[in-house]
Amino acid sequence: MLGIKRQQVQIDQDRNIHSKLSFYRTPPLKEISLDEFEDLAFTRIHLLRHVESAVIRSLRDEELKQFISKVEEKTLPLQTVQRGIDINYESQREKDNISHYILRLAFCRTDDLRKWFVTQETVLFRYRYLKSNKEEREALIKDLKLSYPVMTEEEKKSYFDFLKIATPQMNAIEAETEIFYKVPFEEASELVQKRIVYIRHGVAFVPQREILSIILYQFKLSLESDLQMCSKMLPKIEDDDRVSSIIRNLMNHSIETTDTAVSVSGSLSSGEVDKASAHFPLCMAHLHKKLREESHLKHGGRMQYGLFLKSIGLSLEEALVFWRQAFSRKITDDGFQKNYAYNIRHNYGQEGKRVSYPGYNCLKIITSNSPSAGDHHGCPFKHFGADSLRENLSRYRLPNSLSPLLNPVQVEELMGLAQKNHFQIACTRLLEYSRNEDNLETVINPAQFYELSKTSTLKK
Ligand code: SF4
Repeated sequence: MLGIKRQQVQIDQDRNIHSKLSFYRTPPLKEISLDEFEDLAFTRIHLLRHVESAVIRSLRDEELKQFISKVEEKTLPLQTVQRGIDINYESQREKDNISHYILRLAFCRTDDLRKWFVTQETVLFRYRYLKSNKEEREALIKDLKLSYPVMTEEEKKSYFDFLKIATPQMNAIEAETEIFYKVPFEEASELVQKRIVYIRHGVAFVPQREILSIILYQFKLSLESDLQMCSKMLPKIEDDDRVSSIIRNLMNHSIETTDTAVSVSGSLSSGEVDKASAHFPLCMAHLHKKLREESHLKHGGRMQYGLFLKSIGLSLEEALVFWRQAFSRKITDDGFQKNYAYNIRHNYGQEGKRVSYPGYNCLKIITSNSPSAGDHHGCPFKHFGADSLRENLSRYRLPNSLSPLLNPVQVEELMGLAQKNHFQIACTRLLEYSRNEDNLETVINPAQFYELSKTSTLKK
């Protein structure tokens, strides 16, 4: 076994504010308002959820860059400094640093949360590294002070045949001129897993061009240990009630707050709902179908579907007409006024506490109030049995089309995602197939699905 010490990463802390490749070694010292605090936290969660979606899709580097950049630009843009371009780079880096540190407070609590956060942050770092230029990369490597021993010419000569075989990403000429670092094999775990590095007696011979894998290992290690430390400081941090209540509720409420990103254009009349239902996600299409079949929905279904229709533009007056007509086969006018009209007005903020309620987002539909027998609410990807989901997916048609959209392989792909609990990704894939577009933002709200479906059909 060769004696290679594990590296301790040291960063020139002052440099980080000028680079987008940050190991987040410098906690922010700036004072910000609670509103900004909350806003930055929610924004980063939104970005990390999108990163998670990229991870689940196992995207290659080029696809990863494309997939994340759209959302990064809208949430926490972080550009390479370019002379002559009027961008407040310092503010971008500051927001990135502050939002990262806020989420540390929320995600340091349990093993699962730490694991989730480290995974998404590491992929975000990878994405930013892939988008960085040569100068940024070189500066980072210098700052990390990674001082792995370099393979000598003699060592290279004696192991050259093995190096060539073990690093198929390089041809023989490239391998001859490449610098190889001697790295403890556990620090090169990604390369080891991919079987693209030569290992001898516990040492991985890592080509310089694969150094990203080592940097990512160091990033992960450093973040894991910082989160452990942060969790020990939590009782002190939680002395401040204002901050602790935001942090405690961050997971649930942050995801709900991302609903503000869903803006649906136009209004809808009661007579247009049938036509509009061609653009509904499976959950709402199912509720619409059952309402038409049974002329009734139980409370959970009325709430989920009623608030969705409200969020896509059905006014209170139109909602009263829509539900009245939909129930007319079974419920009298009098019965409707007595038992249902109040709740509809309540949802629109015209009764009780006079709060105008938003539509449920996917997380709420997926995680709360599971449907019982006779209920039709919920998320089909989560709540339908395998046979029923497969049948629904196999039957799924585009607006105005007679033939099913998905072929059996695509149906099984979506079934597989649902079985692995990636419900929203499965839903997004369905939207992508139906609109023939790749890399759409992950569906977080049924109204977002409707809007994306409508607009992409209009574009055709
Ligand atoms: S993922 Fe969301 S939009 Fe899609 S079916 Fe489930 S609840 Fe509906």
